[in-house]
Amino acid sequence: MTMTTHTVNKMDRYLIETPHTARDCKMLVEQVYAMGYLHNFDWGCEVGVHNGWAIIEAESEAQARLAVPSLVRRKARVIKLSKFDGRLKSHEMAHKNME
Ligand SMILES: [Zn+2]
Repeated sequence: MTMTTHTVNKMDRYLIETPHTARDCKMLVEQVYAMGYLHNFDWGCEVGVHNGWAIIEAESEAQARLAVPSLVRRKARVIKLSKFDGRLKSHEMAHKNME
């Protein structure tokens, strides 16, 4: 798998969440390592929270999902991230529209 770095398309950032069981932990980390994404991931496993998180850049949710190991592909969440601009306050605007 290759993530093109020379693309002109705007890349979005996606949070990948990989909940798993203690039993699957070792196999999952091995899969992520084999896929070359281990350096992208942070893990809660050492404190008993068996979950791994990574923020990656991708062109689409489908492409971001390719970074999810098959072991947890059905349980994993892929969340497109966005930043709020301090001036636009788009999250407050969204609330106002609902009043
Ligand atoms: Zn784990």
